[in-house]
Amino acid sequence: MRVLINGGGVAGLTLAFWLRRHGIEPVVVERAAHGRLGGYGIDFFGTGYDVAARMGIVDRLAPHRLPVDSVDFVDAAGRPGARLTAPLLDKVIQGPHLALMHTTLEGALLDAVEGDVEIRFGETVTAVRDTGSAVEAEFAGGTTERFDLLVGADGIHSRTRELAFGPEPEFARYLGCRLACFPVADRYDWGRARVHYTEPGRQVVVYPTGRTGELIALFLFRSSHTGNVPRAERPGLLRSTFGGMGWLTPSLLAEAPADEPIFMDTMTQIVMPAWHRGRVALVGDACGCMTMVSAQGVSMAMAGAYVLAEELARHGDHVGAFTRYQERVRAEVAHRQRNAQMFIRTLVPGTRPGLVAQSLIQRLIMREAFAPLLRRQFGASSFLPPQNPEPRQGVIHGDR
Ligand SMILES: Cc1cc2nc3c(=O)[nH]c(=O)nc-3n(C[C@H](O)[C@H](O)[C@H](O)COP(=O)(O)OP(=O)(O)OC[C@H]3O[C@@H](n4cnc5c(N)ncnc54)[C@H](O)[C@@H]3O)c2cc1C
Repeated sequence: MRVLINGGGVAGLTLAFWLRRHGIEPVVVERAAHGRLGGYGIDFFGTGYDVAARMGIVDRLAPHRLPVDSVDFVDAAGRPGARLTAPLLDKVIQGPHLALMHTTLEGALLDAVEGDVEIRFGETVTAVRDTGSAVEAEFAGGTTERFDLLVGADGIHSRTRELAFGPEPEFARYLGCRLACFPVADRYDWGRARVHYTEPGRQVVVYPTGRTGELIALFLFRSSHTGNVPRAERPGLLRSTFGGMGWLTPSLLAEAPADEPIFMDTMTQIVMPAWHRGRVALVGDACGCMTMVSAQGVSMAMAGAYVLAEELARHGDHVGAFTRYQERVRAEVAHRQRNAQMFIRTLVPGTRPGLVAQSLIQRLIMREAFAPLLRRQFGASSFLPPQNPEPRQGVIHGDR
């Protein structure tokens, strides 16, 4: 069986790895050039961590964990209010977890498949025809090829989804917030903390990347505009939205890169009645984006890819495999989407009284006694049945 995977991110590379393991031939096409840099930090735990352990890549990830020992919520003068400490985080998550740069995980996944899987960088699928017995894919490079199956692993704004299922607005659930981020120089003698500062309708988050002298500045803001903001307009939009904001905001904004694109997107979930149609299926954000506030996007992308490969290997036919894959993963994703929908309302309050309430609640619940409550919202353990007979590799308990 030959499977075309459109998108070589977390979901696509994980799927390629496991298809190869099961004796199925994957071909990955990735729009971007080889070896992407930059990016943002992720909390990595739950099923995705379990999948990474089964792939044997945790030992490669662990040395690159972000130097973050606490999550602090500060006032305009930088004075700490609530603090989520490492021991409390351990109690909330109750399992192995790592804070990483997204590119670190992608790099480790790429290393795990390179040489073993055909990957075409700088390429993409532009048209799809399901003939019933095969999928014909047209590529931007001008060629057409037949595959047994096509899997769209091309992220939240999936082109595969658009080609095979319909336009994005049919499946998009906008959560009323936008995000943007970029790296800045550490002019602040930064410690080992991720720091959040909030004003009504807007929040700035700063954390170290682990590369000497480099921090990430992340901007979250309420907005009713759901469209894409052209790259040239992003610095101006950030300056106008965050103008007059306290704490380090003016100095961070002054570093917004003028000559490089700023990553900016809406916080939008993808909700679909079905994750497959004919010989085409979707995986990861393409079918089940939960947004960054779930802190489970990479985890569910890897979980979905693992389960999809397993079901394709188990079933002789793609119909049974796709159906079972969706049954096993979609409820997990829906549960985390509901959590994220609730959490976003309190993460960036729209009003001053909302902000005061947020601050009081944060101070109250960031204690050991409330760990079970926090776990209900943010916790995640692997939903995969234990793996037998092969031993699991490299799981680091309570590590960071
Ligand atoms: C700021 C931020 C913070 C986050 N924090 C966390 C966190 O703490 N924990 C967590 O688990 N998740 C987090 N997430 C979410 C997580 O990054 C995503 O859920 C995850 O990356 C989804 O993986 P994916 O492979 O489905 O999609 P992506 O990672 O988006 O990968 C899609 C790939 O497809 C490629 N592609 C796109 N279009 C095409 C095309 N037309 N043709 C070919 N290739 C294409 C892209 O270049 C990319 O390589 C965060 C996200 C953001 C933005």
